[in-house]
Amino acid sequence: MKFKNFPMVKMVVYGRGCFDQTADIIKPHRKGDYPFIYIVDDVFKDKQELIGRVPLSGTDKIVFASAADEPKTKQVDAIANELKDTYGEVSGVIGIGGGSMLDLAKAVSLMMTNPGSSADYQGWDLVKVPGAYHVGIPTLSGTGAEVSRTTVLTGPERKLGMNSDYTPFDQIVLDPELIKNAPKNQRFYTGMDCYIHCVESLTGTYLNTFSQSYGEKANELCEEIFLEKNEWDDDSDDKLMMASFHGGMSIAYSQVGVAHALSYGLSFLLGTKHGIGNCIVFDHLEEFYPDGVKKFKAMVDKHEIYIPKGICADLTDAQFEKMIDVAMFLEPLWENALGKNWRETITRKKLREMYELM
Ligand code: NAD
Ligand code: ZN
Repeated sequence: MKFKNFPMVKMVVYGRGCFDQTADIIKPHRKGDYPFIYIVDDVFKDKQELIGRVPLSGTDKIVFASAADEPKTKQVDAIANELKDTYGEVSGVIGIGGGSMLDLAKAVSLMMTNPGSSADYQGWDLVKVPGAYHVGIPTLSGTGAEVSRTTVLTGPERKLGMNSDYTPFDQIVLDPELIKNAPKNQRFYTGMDCYIHCVESLTGTYLNTFSQSYGEKANELCEEIFLEKNEWDDDSDDKLMMASFHGGMSIAYSQVGVAHALSYGLSFLLGTKHGIGNCIVFDHLEEFYPDGVKKFKAMVDKHEIYIPKGICADLTDAQFEKMIDVAMFLEPLWENALGKNWRETITRKKLREMYELM
């Protein structure tokens, strides 16, 4: 048996208001006159309470990016090429936003030093050179992108991460005040990404004690804030931020499962975003995760969240086939969920029936 040897985020700061320490934290990493580039979700464009606190100095620059679509290899290449043309090098890349901006920042940092297109590096361990210094500052919690070894990109061929030892952030700034004003529905969808990571990891065949210890803590925090507490308050934001961290650490040493495999199919074909896509799928997975789905439904009811239905109603046979291709390709996810003999249960016919329910 060969055990996975994986890198973790190098530096972590956590606490209400710690965003204001960013200037001091990055200062030692400034390389001459090369700028720090902040990749910021454009939802904050007019929000001076955040933008006004970004510690710009010298030629540092804010690049606003939209999270309307999940990050694409083309978008990563365009940003990195423009930065290379303008500045040659950068001191660092700092992502501020939800999973989309964190992934964009990771990928741009890697493409500042690696030749070609980011699409060339979608896969496992294809990145050979460390990227520019990169920092993640979440404004939405749940994906675990702040701690993961991947940056998920949609490329010309597939939706697949740049998974490498150089992908994790050098620094993360976890300030629960920054997630306070996320819209309720979005907070729930992304929060459920974390809850689903826990369920898939804790019930998976890849589980080990490392993964379990993080997964159980994340699960406990999710159940407390989404099921047990009656009001959403600052304490809930504090706990959601740490649940995301622990959930991400849990899957670092295990794998996700059925919900993620099917949700990737929806995302590739229909552009369904990760958090809501996972919710749409998970709602129909009682067969695989009876206890997790029961609690999920209770959370949906308690928070009065709308989970879209019927999104596959008008799809053609060819479209179903494409989604099934994408989902079936994710073999480690199925193996984690159902064991080595997963193909006995998971057939194309079975997946078609499941997608038809959504
Ligand atoms: P997101 O970053 O896509 O943002 C969702 C929406 O919330 C956007 O409209 C955004 O503008 C808005 N938003 C974010 N923060 C806000 C705030 N504080 N206030 C108001 N609006 C805010 O959402 P997400 O669910 O965090 O991330 C999804 C992305 O993460 C997907 O691209 C997915 O592929 C990726 N992901 C990556 C990993 C990884 O390990 N790298 C893991 C899971 C998901
Ligand atoms: Zn996820």
